[in-house]
Amino acid sequence: MPGGAARETARTPIRGAVFDVDGTLVLSNRSLSGYEVLPGAIEVLTTLKARQVPFALLTNGSAYPPAEQAAKLREVGLPVDDDRMITPSSIAADHMLRRGIRRTLVLGSIGVGQALRDAGIETVHTGEAGATEVGSVFVGWHPECGMKDIETACQAIWGGAELCVASDVPFFATKQGRTIGYSFAITAAIRRLTRAPMTLTGKPSLLALRFVARRLGVPVRALAVVGDDPIVEILMARRGGATALAVTTGTTRRGEWARQARLHRPHGILGELREVLGWVAGAEETAGAEARLRSMRAGVKAARSRTAVQSRPAAQRGVGRRSS
Ligand SMILES: [Mg+2]
Repeated sequence: MPGGAARETARTPIRGAVFDVDGTLVLSNRSLSGYEVLPGAIEVLTTLKARQVPFALLTNGSAYPPAEQAAKLREVGLPVDDDRMITPSSIAADHMLRRGIRRTLVLGSIGVGQALRDAGIETVHTGEAGATEVGSVFVGWHPECGMKDIETACQAIWGGAELCVASDVPFFATKQGRTIGYSFAITAAIRRLTRAPMTLTGKPSLLALRFVARRLGVPVRALAVVGDDPIVEILMARRGGATALAVTTGTTRRGEWARQARLHRPHGILGELREVLGWVAGAEETAGAEARLRSMRAGVKAARSRTAVQSRPAAQRGVGRRSS
Protein backbone atom coordinates (compact mmCIF):
# COMPACT_ATOMS: atom_id res chain seq x y z
CA MET A 1 0.00 0.00 0.00
CA PRO A 2 1.55 3.37 -0.98
CA GLY A 3 2.61 5.60 1.88
CA GLY A 4 2.67 2.75 4.42
CA ALA A 5 -0.01 1.35 6.65
CA ALA A 6 0.33 4.10 9.28
CA ARG A 7 -0.54 6.83 6.81
CA GLU A 8 -3.48 4.87 5.44
CA THR A 9 -4.96 4.16 8.89
CA ALA A 10 -4.70 7.87 9.80
CA ARG A 11 -7.07 8.78 6.94
CA THR A 12 -10.22 10.72 7.77
CA PRO A 13 -13.00 8.27 8.73
CA ILE A 14 -15.29 7.59 5.80
CA ARG A 15 -18.72 9.15 6.31
CA GLY A 16 -20.20 8.76 2.86
CA ALA A 17 -19.79 6.79 -0.34
CA VAL A 18 -19.98 7.47 -4.06
CA PHE A 19 -20.57 4.49 -6.32
CA ASP A 20 -19.90 4.15 -10.00
CA VAL A 21 -22.75 2.32 -11.79
CA ASP A 22 -21.53 0.38 -14.86
CA GLY A 23 -19.08 -2.35 -13.91
CA THR A 24 -19.47 -1.62 -10.18
CA LEU A 25 -23.16 -2.07 -9.31
CA VAL A 26 -24.58 -3.35 -12.63
CA LEU A 27 -23.63 -4.42 -16.10
CA SER A 28 -25.89 -3.11 -18.85
CA ASN A 29 -26.02 -4.31 -22.40
CA ARG A 30 -24.57 -2.19 -25.19
CA SER A 31 -27.86 -0.48 -26.05
CA LEU A 32 -28.36 0.35 -22.31
CA SER A 33 -31.76 -1.40 -22.37
CA GLY A 34 -31.24 -4.06 -19.68
CA TYR A 35 -29.32 -4.42 -16.43
CA GLU A 36 -27.67 -7.33 -14.67
CA VAL A 37 -27.11 -6.51 -10.99
CA LEU A 38 -23.61 -7.39 -9.78
CA PRO A 39 -23.18 -9.56 -6.65
CA GLY A 40 -23.52 -7.71 -3.35
CA ALA A 41 -24.82 -4.46 -4.88
CA ILE A 42 -28.34 -4.63 -3.41
CA GLU A 43 -27.03 -5.76 0.00
CA VAL A 44 -24.42 -2.99 0.20
CA LEU A 45 -26.78 -0.13 -0.67
CA THR A 46 -29.53 -1.54 1.58
CA THR A 47 -27.08 -1.81 4.50
CA LEU A 48 -25.74 1.72 4.02
CA LYS A 49 -29.28 3.03 3.95
CA ALA A 50 -30.09 1.15 7.20
CA ARG A 51 -26.91 2.53 8.81
CA GLN A 52 -27.86 6.04 7.63
CA VAL A 53 -24.61 6.46 5.73
CA PRO A 54 -25.11 9.02 2.94
CA PHE A 55 -24.35 7.60 -0.50
CA ALA A 56 -24.84 8.56 -4.12
CA LEU A 57 -24.51 6.91 -7.48
CA LEU A 58 -22.39 8.89 -9.90
CA THR A 59 -22.44 7.67 -13.47
CA ASN A 60 -20.77 9.09 -16.55
CA GLY A 61 -23.77 7.84 -18.48
CA SER A 62 -25.89 10.76 -19.67
CA ALA A 63 -28.48 8.89 -21.74
CA TYR A 64 -31.21 9.05 -19.08
CA PRO A 65 -32.31 11.92 -16.83
CA PRO A 66 -31.33 11.19 -13.18
CA ALA A 67 -34.87 10.38 -11.98
CA GLU A 68 -35.45 8.00 -14.91
CA GLN A 69 -32.10 6.31 -14.32
CA ALA A 70 -32.86 5.94 -10.59
CA ALA A 71 -36.24 4.36 -11.40
CA LYS A 72 -34.60 1.85 -13.76
CA LEU A 73 -32.15 0.85 -11.03
CA ARG A 74 -34.94 0.56 -8.41
CA GLU A 75 -36.72 -1.82 -10.82
CA VAL A 76 -33.80 -4.26 -10.54
CA GLY A 77 -33.70 -3.92 -6.75
CA LEU A 78 -31.16 -1.17 -6.01
CA PRO A 79 -32.50 1.25 -3.36
CA VAL A 80 -31.61 4.55 -5.08
CA ASP A 81 -33.55 7.74 -4.35
CA ASP A 82 -33.95 10.18 -7.26
CA ASP A 83 -31.82 12.88 -5.62
CA ARG A 84 -28.99 10.39 -5.01
CA MET A 85 -28.66 9.53 -8.70
CA ILE A 86 -26.19 11.95 -10.23
CA THR A 87 -25.31 12.19 -13.91
CA PRO A 88 -22.93 14.53 -15.77
CA SER A 89 -26.05 16.45 -16.89
CA SER A 90 -26.90 17.28 -13.24
CA ILE A 91 -23.38 18.66 -12.78
CA ALA A 92 -23.45 20.50 -16.13
CA ALA A 93 -26.69 22.24 -15.10
CA ASP A 94 -25.11 23.40 -11.83
CA HIS A 95 -21.94 24.55 -13.63
CA MET A 96 -23.85 26.48 -16.31
CA LEU A 97 -26.08 28.24 -13.77
CA ARG A 98 -22.98 29.31 -11.79
CA ARG A 99 -21.44 30.63 -15.04
CA GLY A 100 -24.65 32.49 -15.97
CA ILE A 101 -25.24 30.32 -19.05
CA ARG A 102 -28.96 30.11 -19.86
CA ARG A 103 -28.95 28.52 -23.33
CA THR A 104 -26.98 25.54 -24.56
CA LEU A 105 -26.59 23.44 -27.69
CA VAL A 106 -26.97 19.77 -26.74
CA LEU A 107 -25.22 17.08 -28.75
CA GLY A 108 -27.05 14.14 -27.27
CA SER A 109 -30.17 12.04 -27.26
CA ILE A 110 -33.30 13.63 -25.77
CA GLY A 111 -32.56 12.46 -22.20
CA VAL A 112 -29.17 14.20 -22.11
CA GLY A 113 -30.62 17.72 -21.83
CA GLN A 114 -33.45 16.96 -19.36
CA ALA A 115 -31.52 17.91 -16.21
CA LEU A 116 -30.54 21.19 -17.91
CA ARG A 117 -34.17 22.01 -18.81
CA ASP A 118 -35.25 21.06 -15.26
CA ALA A 119 -32.75 23.64 -14.01
CA GLY A 120 -34.25 26.32 -16.28
CA ILE A 121 -31.60 26.22 -19.02
CA GLU A 122 -32.93 26.41 -22.58
CA THR A 123 -31.65 23.54 -24.76
CA VAL A 124 -31.38 23.61 -28.55
CA HIS A 125 -30.38 20.92 -31.01
CA THR A 126 -28.73 20.89 -34.45
CA GLY A 127 -31.04 22.23 -37.15
CA GLU A 128 -33.13 24.35 -34.76
CA ALA A 129 -33.23 28.13 -35.08
CA GLY A 130 -30.32 29.88 -33.35
CA ALA A 131 -28.53 26.60 -32.61
CA THR A 132 -25.13 28.33 -32.67
CA GLU A 133 -26.20 31.31 -30.53
CA VAL A 134 -25.58 29.67 -27.19
CA GLY A 135 -23.43 30.10 -24.10
CA SER A 136 -22.23 26.51 -24.20
CA VAL A 137 -22.18 23.26 -26.12
CA PHE A 138 -22.93 20.15 -24.06
CA VAL A 139 -21.77 16.80 -25.46
CA GLY A 140 -23.34 13.64 -24.02
CA TRP A 141 -24.64 10.20 -25.06
CA HIS A 142 -25.28 10.59 -28.80
CA PRO A 143 -25.18 7.37 -30.82
CA GLU A 144 -26.84 9.13 -33.78
CA CYS A 145 -24.35 12.00 -33.95
CA GLY A 146 -23.54 13.13 -37.50
CA MET A 147 -21.27 15.65 -39.21
CA LYS A 148 -23.98 18.34 -39.07
CA ASP A 149 -23.87 18.08 -35.26
CA ILE A 150 -20.08 18.38 -35.20
CA GLU A 151 -20.20 21.36 -37.54
CA THR A 152 -22.90 23.17 -35.54
CA ALA A 153 -20.94 22.61 -32.33
CA CYS A 154 -17.77 24.01 -33.91
CA GLN A 155 -19.65 27.09 -35.19
CA ALA A 156 -21.04 27.71 -31.70
CA ILE A 157 -17.56 27.36 -30.14
CA TRP A 158 -16.02 29.70 -32.73
CA GLY A 159 -18.77 32.12 -31.73
CA GLY A 160 -17.59 31.98 -28.10
CA ALA A 161 -19.53 29.09 -26.55
CA GLU A 162 -17.89 26.98 -23.82
CA LEU A 163 -17.39 23.28 -24.58
CA CYS A 164 -18.85 21.14 -21.77
CA VAL A 165 -18.46 17.37 -21.95
CA ALA A 166 -20.31 14.66 -20.01
CA SER A 167 -17.68 11.97 -20.35
CA ASP A 168 -14.21 11.89 -21.82
CA VAL A 169 -13.70 8.18 -21.23
CA PRO A 170 -12.95 6.04 -24.29
CA PHE A 171 -14.55 2.82 -22.96
CA PHE A 172 -17.05 1.53 -20.40
CA ALA A 173 -17.93 -1.97 -19.20
CA THR A 174 -21.04 -3.73 -20.55
CA LYS A 175 -22.26 -7.33 -20.62
CA GLN A 176 -20.74 -7.62 -24.10
CA GLY A 177 -17.38 -6.33 -22.87
CA ARG A 178 -15.66 -3.01 -23.54
CA THR A 179 -17.88 -0.50 -25.32
CA ILE A 180 -16.83 2.86 -26.79
CA GLY A 181 -17.87 6.14 -25.20
CA TYR A 182 -19.65 8.20 -27.86
CA SER A 183 -19.02 11.56 -26.22
CA PHE A 184 -15.28 10.79 -26.15
CA ALA A 185 -15.27 10.31 -29.93
CA ILE A 186 -17.49 13.35 -30.60
CA THR A 187 -15.39 15.58 -28.35
CA ALA A 188 -12.20 14.41 -30.04
CA ALA A 189 -13.59 15.51 -33.42
CA ILE A 190 -14.75 18.90 -32.12
CA ARG A 191 -11.48 19.63 -30.35
CA ARG A 192 -9.40 18.53 -33.34
CA LEU A 193 -11.17 21.24 -35.33
CA THR A 194 -11.52 24.01 -32.76
CA ARG A 195 -8.66 23.28 -30.34
CA ALA A 196 -11.09 24.52 -27.69
CA PRO A 197 -10.46 23.68 -24.04
CA MET A 198 -13.21 21.63 -22.45
CA THR A 199 -15.00 21.59 -19.14
CA LEU A 200 -15.54 18.00 -18.08
CA THR A 201 -18.65 17.61 -15.93
CA GLY A 202 -18.45 13.83 -15.42
CA LYS A 203 -15.77 11.77 -13.72
CA PRO A 204 -12.81 12.18 -13.17
CA SER A 205 -13.43 15.94 -12.83
CA LEU A 206 -13.26 17.56 -9.42
CA LEU A 207 -16.39 19.45 -10.48
CA ALA A 208 -18.18 16.08 -10.24
CA LEU A 209 -16.64 15.02 -6.94
CA ARG A 210 -17.33 18.37 -5.25
CA PHE A 211 -20.91 18.38 -6.55
CA VAL A 212 -21.56 14.98 -4.96
CA ALA A 213 -19.90 16.03 -1.69
CA ARG A 214 -22.21 19.08 -1.51
CA ARG A 215 -25.26 16.95 -2.34
CA LEU A 216 -24.39 14.45 0.43
CA GLY A 217 -23.29 17.09 2.96
CA VAL A 218 -20.03 15.19 3.48
CA PRO A 219 -16.56 16.72 2.91
CA VAL A 220 -14.63 15.24 -0.03
CA ARG A 221 -11.91 13.90 2.31
CA ALA A 222 -14.52 11.85 4.19
CA LEU A 223 -15.88 10.22 1.02
CA ALA A 224 -15.06 6.80 -0.40
CA VAL A 225 -15.27 6.57 -4.18
CA VAL A 226 -15.97 3.04 -5.40
CA GLY A 227 -15.37 2.18 -9.04
CA ASP A 228 -13.95 -0.10 -11.70
CA ASP A 229 -11.82 2.31 -13.71
CA PRO A 230 -8.36 3.59 -12.70
CA ILE A 231 -8.54 6.68 -14.94
CA VAL A 232 -12.10 7.53 -13.88
CA GLU A 233 -13.16 6.90 -10.25
CA ILE A 234 -9.71 6.22 -8.79
CA LEU A 235 -8.07 9.25 -10.41
CA MET A 236 -10.95 11.48 -9.30
CA ALA A 237 -10.73 10.25 -5.70
CA ARG A 238 -6.93 10.62 -5.60
CA ARG A 239 -7.07 14.14 -7.08
CA GLY A 240 -9.67 15.27 -4.59
CA GLY A 241 -8.22 13.59 -1.48
CA ALA A 242 -11.04 11.06 -1.08
CA THR A 243 -10.50 7.34 -0.42
CA ALA A 244 -10.36 5.30 -3.64
CA LEU A 245 -11.76 1.75 -3.58
CA ALA A 246 -11.57 -0.52 -6.60
CA VAL A 247 -13.78 -3.38 -7.74
CA THR A 248 -12.76 -6.19 -10.10
CA THR A 249 -16.12 -6.67 -11.80
CA GLY A 250 -15.72 -4.07 -14.56
CA THR A 251 -12.99 -2.89 -16.91
CA THR A 252 -10.05 -3.70 -14.60
CA ARG A 253 -8.96 -7.08 -13.23
CA ARG A 254 -7.07 -7.59 -9.96
CA GLY A 255 -3.67 -8.04 -11.67
CA GLU A 256 -4.19 -4.85 -13.66
CA TRP A 257 -4.89 -2.80 -10.51
CA ALA A 258 -1.48 -3.73 -9.14
CA ARG A 259 0.24 -2.31 -12.23
CA GLN A 260 -1.33 1.17 -12.02
CA ALA A 261 0.69 4.37 -11.58
CA ARG A 262 0.30 6.06 -8.18
CA LEU A 263 -2.56 8.42 -9.11
CA HIS A 264 -4.51 5.53 -10.62
CA ARG A 265 -3.89 3.12 -7.74
CA PRO A 266 -6.72 2.57 -5.23
CA HIS A 267 -6.31 2.70 -1.43
CA GLY A 268 -8.07 -0.65 -1.33
CA ILE A 269 -9.11 -3.37 -3.77
CA LEU A 270 -12.44 -5.00 -2.94
CA GLY A 271 -12.42 -8.74 -3.62
CA GLU A 272 -16.20 -8.50 -3.26
CA LEU A 273 -18.32 -5.36 -3.29
CA ARG A 274 -19.66 -6.11 0.23
CA GLU A 275 -16.15 -5.49 1.64
CA VAL A 276 -16.93 -1.79 1.20
CA LEU A 277 -19.03 -2.05 4.37
CA GLY A 278 -15.83 -2.63 6.34
CA TRP A 279 -14.44 0.69 5.08
CA VAL A 280 -17.55 2.78 5.58
CA ALA A 281 -18.57 3.12 9.20
CA GLY A 282 -22.14 3.59 10.41
CA ALA A 283 -23.16 6.99 11.82
CA GLU A 284 -22.34 6.04 15.47
CA GLU A 285 -19.09 4.26 14.58
CA THR A 286 -18.04 7.35 12.59
CA ALA A 287 -18.50 9.60 15.61
CA GLY A 288 -16.31 7.24 17.69
CA ALA A 289 -13.65 6.95 14.97
CA GLU A 290 -13.52 10.74 14.55
CA ALA A 291 -13.00 11.19 18.28
CA ARG A 292 -10.18 8.60 18.19
CA LEU A 293 -8.59 10.34 15.20
CA ARG A 294 -8.83 13.75 16.93
CA SER A 295 -7.16 12.43 20.09
CA MET A 296 -4.52 10.63 17.99
CA ARG A 297 -3.78 13.87 16.09
CA ALA A 298 -3.67 15.81 19.37
CA GLY A 299 -1.21 13.22 20.73
CA VAL A 300 1.00 13.55 17.63
CA LYS A 301 0.90 17.37 17.94
CA ALA A 302 1.85 17.24 21.62
CA ALA A 303 4.70 14.81 20.91
CA ARG A 304 5.91 17.07 18.09
CA SER A 305 5.97 20.16 20.30
CA ARG A 306 7.89 18.21 22.99
CA THR A 307 10.40 17.12 20.33
CA ALA A 308 10.67 20.72 19.10
CA VAL A 309 11.45 22.01 22.60
CA GLN A 310 14.08 19.33 23.14
CA SER A 311 15.77 19.92 19.80
CA ARG A 312 16.11 23.69 20.28
CA PRO A 313 19.75 24.74 20.98
CA ALA A 314 20.60 24.54 24.67
CA ALA A 315 21.20 28.31 24.90
CA GLN A 316 17.63 29.04 23.71
CA ARG A 317 16.22 26.67 26.32
CA GLY A 318 18.19 28.43 29.03
CA VAL A 319 20.19 25.26 29.72
CA GLY A 320 23.65 25.97 31.04
CA ARG A 321 23.01 29.73 31.05
CA ARG A 322 24.84 31.39 33.89
CA SER A 323 23.23 34.05 35.89
CA SER A 324 25.35 37.15 36.05
MG1 LIG B 1 -17.64 1.91 -14.50
